[in-house]
Amino acid sequence: MKVYNTLTRQKDEFVPVEKGRVKIYTCGPTVYWFAHIGNFRAYVFADTLRRVFEYLGYEVRHVMNITDVGHLTTDDDLGEDKLEAGARREGRTPEEIARFYEQAFFADAQKLNILRPQIVCRATEHIPDMIELIRRIEANGFAYRTSVGLIFDTGRYPDYWRLGRLNLEEQRAGARVAVDPERRNPSDFALWITNQPRHLMQWDSPWGRGFPGWHIECSAMSIKYLGEEFDIHTGGIDHIPIHHTNERAQNFAATGREVVRYWMHNAFLQLGEARMGKSEGNIMTVTELERQGYEPLAFRYLCLTAHYRMPLNFTIEALQGAQNGLRGLRELGLNARTWQEAAGDTEWLERAQREFRNAIEDDLNLPQAMAVVWSLVREGNRRQDRRAWKLLLDFDRVLGLRLGETVEGEQDIPAEVRALAEEREQARRARDWGRADRLRAEILSRGFVIEDTKEGWRLKRA
Ligand SMILES: [Zn+2]
Repeated sequence: MKVYNTLTRQKDEFVPVEKGRVKIYTCGPTVYWFAHIGNFRAYVFADTLRRVFEYLGYEVRHVMNITDVGHLTTDDDLGEDKLEAGARREGRTPEEIARFYEQAFFADAQKLNILRPQIVCRATEHIPDMIELIRRIEANGFAYRTSVGLIFDTGRYPDYWRLGRLNLEEQRAGARVAVDPERRNPSDFALWITNQPRHLMQWDSPWGRGFPGWHIECSAMSIKYLGEEFDIHTGGIDHIPIHHTNERAQNFAATGREVVRYWMHNAFLQLGEARMGKSEGNIMTVTELERQGYEPLAFRYLCLTAHYRMPLNFTIEALQGAQNGLRGLRELGLNARTWQEAAGDTEWLERAQREFRNAIEDDLNLPQAMAVVWSLVREGNRRQDRRAWKLLLDFDRVLGLRLGETVEGEQDIPAEVRALAEEREQARRARDWGRADRLRAEILSRGFVIEDTKEGWRLKRA
């Protein structure tokens, strides 16, 4: 398995810290508003990564945080907390806002068949872990105090710029704070912020009452749940120059080591020339996709058609194409219901399996994997061999398109068979057993078995 590592700027051979296991940390949502499909591209990517490792036989431990404090509306450590801005907007408490949008996030994630990470951790529930990590950073000499609070001294970490590969000019341009004479370096950032009486969420700390900077939560929770050396950290490319650069600096300052082995970043979802983003004002949500008549899984399919490191252009035409593609894959399953598993000639199936695996092992080359999928579908239809469908279902462990459920599921039970089942139910209620039995036989002749459950009748393919 090869993965592109932002730190080394090349595809590296994946070597896990612990044999047979993969530990992945994903920067989760800031839960102050609905996540849009541009956000979800990052989570589909992280989910696909997890699925690929599971497919290859690794045991995966996936951790994702929920940011419910500390992410400010501006980058100068003096802005309003996004959660508190959300609370003000909606006349609710920050906690109510956090729980509401967290729930909305997971409802959308579920529609996209994104597996819930084994560990989902909220920032507000890990304040003591953050304080403990900040203490270590301070004890190692990487922090100083100003009137804002406790500040990380990036000048103490000569390797600070490596992840972002920013040259000196970009560093100056990217300096987040206009002029703060108290800071030693323009890139220095707050670990703990004090003296902000208007903030609602505050905790006691060795540096005074206040709240954590945004970056410390990810260092604290990733180390807590995955250890001081773990395999993969994911996120959008927008996180590279500040959030992940600062996380890496904190990790080093606290532990003296490179905590993350592979940094993996996905490119943006583009809408025309611009990235999809809340500040760009061009966002589209999962609910909006559904309202326009598209399945959320069509968006997942669309994500699979572009390499995760390439920008993905979102258009309604592209989404329609993905929706058609999804139908095409399901069609193989519908066709295969009347086919047999042919004997002999396994070469074409083995080749498909090998090529699929090669593609996903090559830094998650899903567009290539989808090409293999489609040649399998064409070949399966040509040969009318049920084994093609079985192999496609195996690939779907990576694709996550719920192909099995949608084909075997209830929606494709013919309406006439449902009507017969209803009729039989009425006959049973009327205690007309002869008629009920005849209807059961009629249903069976159409290829379905009817079962009676506490909830009512249920149809299964015979
Ligand atoms: Zn993060």
